[in-house]
Amino acid sequence: MMKTAISPFSYLLLLMVLSAPQLAQAQANPFHGRRATPVPGTVQTPITQSRQGHTALPAKMDALPARLHSPQARPLFPTRPEGIPVHLRTPDRSHGTRAFASGAEAEAAALTHLEQVAARLGVAQPSTEFALQRHEQDALGHTHVRMQQVWQGVPVYGAEVIVHFTPQQEIRLNGRYQPTPQGLSTTPSLDADAARGLALADAGTLVPVQDIPPAWQEILDYTQAPAELVIYHPPQAPNPHLTWHISLRPNVLHHWEYFVDALTGDILHRYDHTCSVGPTTGSAADLNGVVRSLNLFQAPNGTYYLLDASKDMYTGPSNALPDNGDGFILTADLNNTNLDDPSFSDITSGSANNWAPTAVSAHHNSHLAYDYFRNTFGRSSINGQGGDVYSFINVADDNGSGLDNAFWNGAAMFYGNGDVAFGPLAGSLDVGGHEMSHGVIQETANLEYQGQSGALNESFADVFAVMIDRDDWLLGETVVNSTYYPSGALRSFVNPNQGGNNLNSPGYQPKHMNQLYTGNEDNGGVHINSGIVNHAFYLFVTGMGGNQAAKQKGEQVYYRALSQYLTRSSQFTDCRIAVIQAAEDLYGPGSSEVLAAASAFDQVGIVGDAPTTDPIDLPTNPGQDFIVSFNTDPSVQTTIQRTDANGNNAQALSTTLPQTRVSVTDDGSAGTFIGTDKHIYYISMDPSSPYETTLSTYPEWDNVAISKDGNRLAAVSTYVDTSIYVFDLNTGNGVKYRLYNPTTANGGLNAGGVLYADAITFDYSGQYVMYDAFNRLERNTGPDLEYWDVGFIRVWDNASQTFGDGTIAKLFSSLPEGVSVGNAVFSQNSPELIAFDMFDENTNYVTVMAGNIETGETADIFYQDILGVPHFSRLDDRLLFNAQEQGSLDDVVGLIALAADGISPSGNASILIDQAKWGVWYGTGARDLNLSAPHPGDLATLALYPNPAPNEVELAFELERAESVQLSLRDLQGRVLRQLPAETLIPGAHQRRLDLSDLPAGMYLLQIDAGSQRQSQRLVHY
Ligand SMILES: [Zn+2]
Repeated sequence: MMKTAISPFSYLLLLMVLSAPQLAQAQANPFHGRRATPVPGTVQTPITQSRQGHTALPAKMDALPARLHSPQARPLFPTRPEGIPVHLRTPDRSHGTRAFASGAEAEAAALTHLEQVAARLGVAQPSTEFALQRHEQDALGHTHVRMQQVWQGVPVYGAEVIVHFTPQQEIRLNGRYQPTPQGLSTTPSLDADAARGLALADAGTLVPVQDIPPAWQEILDYTQAPAELVIYHPPQAPNPHLTWHISLRPNVLHHWEYFVDALTGDILHRYDHTCSVGPTTGSAADLNGVVRSLNLFQAPNGTYYLLDASKDMYTGPSNALPDNGDGFILTADLNNTNLDDPSFSDITSGSANNWAPTAVSAHHNSHLAYDYFRNTFGRSSINGQGGDVYSFINVADDNGSGLDNAFWNGAAMFYGNGDVAFGPLAGSLDVGGHEMSHGVIQETANLEYQGQSGALNESFADVFAVMIDRDDWLLGETVVNSTYYPSGALRSFVNPNQGGNNLNSPGYQPKHMNQLYTGNEDNGGVHINSGIVNHAFYLFVTGMGGNQAAKQKGEQVYYRALSQYLTRSSQFTDCRIAVIQAAEDLYGPGSSEVLAAASAFDQVGIVGDAPTTDPIDLPTNPGQDFIVSFNTDPSVQTTIQRTDANGNNAQALSTTLPQTRVSVTDDGSAGTFIGTDKHIYYISMDPSSPYETTLSTYPEWDNVAISKDGNRLAAVSTYVDTSIYVFDLNTGNGVKYRLYNPTTANGGLNAGGVLYADAITFDYSGQYVMYDAFNRLERNTGPDLEYWDVGFIRVWDNASQTFGDGTIAKLFSSLPEGVSVGNAVFSQNSPELIAFDMFDENTNYVTVMAGNIETGETADIFYQDILGVPHFSRLDDRLLFNAQEQGSLDDVVGLIALAADGISPSGNASILIDQAKWGVWYGTGARDLNLSAPHPGDLATLALYPNPAPNEVELAFELERAESVQLSLRDLQGRVLRQLPAETLIPGAHQRRLDLSDLPAGMYLLQIDAGSQRQSQRLVHY
C-alpha cells in the first residue's frame, strides 16, 4: 500500500475552497488582521504581560478575600459616566414587614442592608456614607428607599443608590456610587463667592459677561449663581475633589455648569448647559400629512440630525456631537442598499423644519413608542437600561424595489417603502410600535421565534402596538393597500378572520384553537397563529368593560406576564397561566380581572393549567473525571496536559502550541484544537494511547469544536467570510454555512451585517452550533454601528442524519455599547444553562458569567482583567476559568463552586492548576444523549478494538441473517485503501483483524457492506 503525504482533510478542504469563492477572495480582505483588536474568543493573554488593577488568585487553594472576587462591584453595563453602577439582589431574612412608618425607619433598614454588602461595594462605612433622600411604597408592596452618598456630610456628586424591599423577601440594590474618599478634607479654602468669581472669570474668556436684567432674573429664577459644596470626581481624572458646583448664567443666553476645586480654586470641569447647540426641536409633515413636532440634535456647525436626545435616558453632555452621547433615538437612512450588505447615513437638514415625510413618520413614531414604554411601564428604552434606539428607513427588497415589509432584526427597526400590499410602512404608528415591541420582547421573555412561542412573540408585539396606537383594534390600517387587504387592515383583534375563511384571504388569521395552523410555513405560523392570542387580549379587555380603564389594566397584565413569567420556549398554555398569574398579582386572586383573563383564553380555546415548558436534564456522564488544559510553563515541553479533578497527576497529551482550548467529545476519547500555526488538530485524550493528527490542509483556521458524539466538526476560518464550516467526519462531507441576521419580517427575510463568528460550541444533540458574531452596519460618514451577539445555527438533523438547513435563531442581541460576549459554553447536563465571558471595552474588564437561556437570568461569577474561557465540571457543580495568580500573575486554572441554581457562584474561587489555562472538564464514561439516531437495518453496530489503534485493529459485528459481507478501509475522501475479500457469513457474531502497520497516522473510515446495508465507523490510527 502506498503511503500518502496528504492529510485526510486535504481533499475535503479543497472542495470547500472550490465551492466557496468568498473564502478565496477573503484572503485579500483588508480585515485579515482583525485579531489586533481585543476580541473575546481566542485572544491569548501573554503570560509576561503585567496589568494594573488585576484581580489575581492567591496561592493555590487559598480563599480569595470577598471583595476581590465580587464582580458586582465593578461596572458591567456602564450607561452613565459618573459613579460605579451596582445591581445586587440579596435574600431578605428579616421576615418582617417592610412598610416603614417613618423616614428614619426606612433609612435605618436601608443602612443595615448597605452595611451587610459594604465589602462588595468597597465602601468603608455605609452607615455614615449614605443619607435618606426619600422613600415610598408602591402599589405592589415594594418599598423603595433612595439614598444619597455623602462624605462627612458633603454630598458625593452623581452618587445615589436605591434599596428596594420586595414582598418576595428579596432586597434589591441599584444605582451609582463612588469608593470611599481617602483623607480628603471637607473644609473649603475658598468660599462660594470666591468660587463664583473664578467661574465667572473663566466664562468671560468664552462668552460676553453681562448682568442679568431684573425682568430676566424673575423669568430665569436667578439672582445669583447657585453654589453647592460637593465631593466631585472629574470625568477625566476621577479621584475625588472637594468642589463648588456652580450653575452660572454669564448672560441671558448662556447657562454653564462649573466645578471649582474648593481647596485649590482649579476649574475641574465645565460644560455649556445652553440649548442652542444640542437637543432641540423642529417640525415637519409626516406621511399622513400631519405636522409633527420632532426632537432633533443640532451640531455646532448648525446641521440638524434626526437624533432625539431629549429622553431621560440620554447621558451625553448636552453639547456633545451626536456620536458621543448614549441613550438617544436615531432615525437613519439605509439608502435602499442591499440588505445583505447594508450601509446607512445620518439624516440631516440645514433647517429644523425641513424633513422628508418618511423620516418624520419613523422618527416621530419611535418617540411615541419609546414614551409609551417609559410612561406606561417605567421601562427605560428597549433594553430597559437606556440603550440607544435605531430606526432605518428606505429599506429595499433584493431587486432594489420598495420592501413590502417592516421588521426588527435583533438590533434595530427597519421600514420598507411598500410595493404591492403596503405604502411606506413608516407611516403607521402601530407598525413602528410593533417593531419596537419586538425589541422589548427580545430583552424580556426572548420568546423563540418559531411555532407557538414565535406566535406569542408576534402577538405581544401586536398587543403593545395596538395599545400604542390605541384608538382602534386594527393594525396597519394607515398603510395597507385596500385593494390587497379588502378589510382595510393588516390584522384585526376584534375579528382576526377579517371576513376570510382561510390563509388565502389577505389579512386572515385564526381566532380560535380550532383554526390553528399546523404547517411549516412562516416559522410554523408565527404571523398566523398570533391571531388567536390577539383575540384573547381583545376579549380580556372587553371582559373588563372595554373602556380606557380596561385597556390600562390589560396592558399592565400583559407586560407583567411578558416580563415576569414567560420564558424562551413558552407555549400558548403558558401564556394563559402567565396572564392569569399576572392579573392575580395586580388585582388579587379571584378578582374580576382574573376571571376575565381566564374567560378570554377559554373563549379562544386555550385551556388547561399545566405548564408545557419542561427543560430536559441529561443523565450525567458516569465516567472518571479529567481536566485537559494548556500548560503555560515555558520550561516544560508538554503543552496540552491531562490532570485529575484536583489538578494533580499531570500527563502529557501534546507538545503542539494551541491557540484555543481543546474541544472534547462527550466520552472523553478525542479532542480538537487550533494550533498557533492556524491548523486544526485532532488528538487522543488518553495518554496511554497517544496520537495526534492535523485535519486541515491550509493554515487558515481560528476556532474549532467537535460534537459530543465525535461525528462532526464545526470550524471558523481566519477570514472575514461570515461563515461557519461543518464537517461530517463519517463521510468526509462538509457544508459552509453563511451567517445572517434573522428578522421578524413575514416571509422569512434575512438581513446581512454579520462579519464573522468567533467562539463556537456544539449543543448536546450535535444539531446546533452556538456562536458569537461580530456585526457591522456601515455608516457613510461617522462611526459604524457595531455590535456582538450570540446565535444558534442548525447544522445537523438527527432524524434524517443529514446536514441541517442553517436556520439561525438569536440568543442575545443589543448588548450595551462596547460590551461583547464570547467563549460561550453549554453546561454538561442542563441544555438551558450556559457560561460565557462578558468583555467591557469601556473598562477593559471581563466578567465570567453564567446564564439560563430559557429564563434569561444571568449571574456574575468572577470579575478580572483577562478572559475567563469558562467550562462546567462534569456534574455542573463547579466552573473552571482562566485566572492569574496573585503576585506572580502566572496563568492559572481557577475553580469556583456553583449554587443550586446552576449559574450563581457559591463561596470563593481558588486555584486548581498552576501555570495553566483553558481548562476543560470531561468524563470518560458513555451516556445516552437520546439523539434518536436511526441505525440502518438490522445490522448490529460495527465495533472496533482498540480505537485509536496502533498496528492492528479488531472488527466485531453481528448478523441477523446470512449475508454477503465486504469490509473495507477508506480515507475521509471515500477512497478504498484496503479491502478484505468478500464472503458470505452465517447469522451471529463475527470478528476480523486488519493490519494498519504501513498506514500513516490519521483518521480513517472502516466500512461494512452487508447485503444492501452499509455502515461505517471512524478509526484513528497512530
Ligand atoms: Zn412582527
